[in-house]
Amino acid sequence: MELANMPPTGHFIGGKWVESASGQQFETMNPATEEVLAKVARGGMAEVEQAVAAARQALSGPWGMMPPKEHGRFLHTISQHITAHAGELARLETLDNGKPLSLAEEEVRGAARYFEYYAGAADKIHGEQIPLGPNRLNFTVREPMGVTAHIVPWNKPLNILARSLAPALATGNTAVIKPSELTPLTALKLAEIFAEAGCAPGVINVVNGFGEEAGAALAGHTAIDHLTFTGSVQTGRTVMKAAAEHIKPVVLELGGKSPLLVFADADLDLAVAEAVNGISTNCGQMCSAGSRLLVESSIKEAFVAKLAARLAALRIGPGVDDPDMGPLVSAVQVSRVTGHIEIAQSEGARMVLGGKRPSHLSRGYFLLPTLFDGVLPDMHIAQEEVFGPVLSLTTFADEAEALRIANDVKYGLIAAVFTQNIDRALRLALRLQAGQVFVNEYYTGDEEMPFGGTKQSGFGRLKGLAALDEYTQVKNVAVRMKGEG
Ligand code: NAD
Repeated sequence: MELANMPPTGHFIGGKWVESASGQQFETMNPATEEVLAKVARGGMAEVEQAVAAARQALSGPWGMMPPKEHGRFLHTISQHITAHAGELARLETLDNGKPLSLAEEEVRGAARYFEYYAGAADKIHGEQIPLGPNRLNFTVREPMGVTAHIVPWNKPLNILARSLAPALATGNTAVIKPSELTPLTALKLAEIFAEAGCAPGVINVVNGFGEEAGAALAGHTAIDHLTFTGSVQTGRTVMKAAAEHIKPVVLELGGKSPLLVFADADLDLAVAEAVNGISTNCGQMCSAGSRLLVESSIKEAFVAKLAARLAALRIGPGVDDPDMGPLVSAVQVSRVTGHIEIAQSEGARMVLGGKRPSHLSRGYFLLPTLFDGVLPDMHIAQEEVFGPVLSLTTFADEAEALRIANDVKYGLIAAVFTQNIDRALRLALRLQAGQVFVNEYYTGDEEMPFGGTKQSGFGRLKGLAALDEYTQVKNVAVRMKGEG
């Protein structure tokens, strides 16, 4: 696939493309071929300074003066431009991240949908009037936070960026974006799209670079007003500390170890299909990957047989060929995932399949889907996020045990229940510690559904109308009127 329509590879600051003050660049790779795709400007404190200043200035420019319905119209235009560029965006994402083309296309449609959804919300964000009796008027105003920072991971680069950027802009904020150094290209393409759509300078700014340089400079910048971080728990802790130094609110969207609870009365074929989907999508590199299967003992053998057959049949190859699973994102990610596999084996989990690279692919960061059976709840593989195509299977005897195992991890992002028993499904939906619970499905994940973590999966809610609360602050106005006469 040729690299037509490559976006500029500088930083996008104040409506202009600029190179780094240092002149330094870094390489972004194609994980399916291990070839360099592009050299991208490597930013740091100097570029973050300029970007934050541009975003601050834009708040008092045309963008800041615009009525909400105009913000909404602009977001709608962005949605249309993303759709018009959908093919290029999806190809860039596949080349940069490795994911299958049809998955990249779905994520681009999702990105367009975020802008469409929040376009409709922009002029419906109301304060309230609070009754305090005669001669008093009390009301609230919902104001933008100001300059919002968005630090983005590599697994769904454009889609996750749109998830926080669209509600931040719908509420009248401006933004400084730091894409992942592994996958910067679609954020740069999005900046190009904003410019093409006539965006005022400084409303969005993109600073490329490494986490410890550009990312740390952004999280620690005293002139940002809000920080959205999506990434690992470890980095989330670091950025939260940086934001705490200057008392700034954060939304943290972190990792997960999400369980699928499969009861004996479940539709087994459905549960197997959803389990395969939950671990193979994006090669398991999903915060919401269904990486823990909890299966009722009586159906375990039948379940494993069906599951292993489905996993073994997955087509693996370069994302441009639109397989079921592409490569992992990098050599580092391959060694992290295989490290988890080695620990699982050393702790006595039984590897049913996978654990190595596919023999038909000689280059690229590929790994076979891997299934562990006989996993005990306290094993490393049942507790730690792998972020790869590795599924661990644990059995349970009854509902109480299933719930106990499901909740006994430090994460709490997603959970799913497969059963025909409506009482059990609803009981568990209320008792599972997760920000989102699915019943007899996994991964629908529409943009209207509030999403976020409990426990170490983070806090704050994105998607749905809930996200609008994250990007506005409430001001209360109290008026005492003189009574007549
Ligand atoms: P990561 O934490 O390594 O990096 C995320 C981003 O933070 C990158 O842009 C990186 O450059 C930046 N960064 C790194 N160090 C930094 C620092 N010291 N200061 C500021 N920024 C820094 O995560 P990753 O490997 O890109 O993504 C994988 C993780 O993200 C997984 O744990 C996954 O579960 C999580 N994730 C969560 C969600 C969610 O919505 N909850 C979605 C996607 C990914």
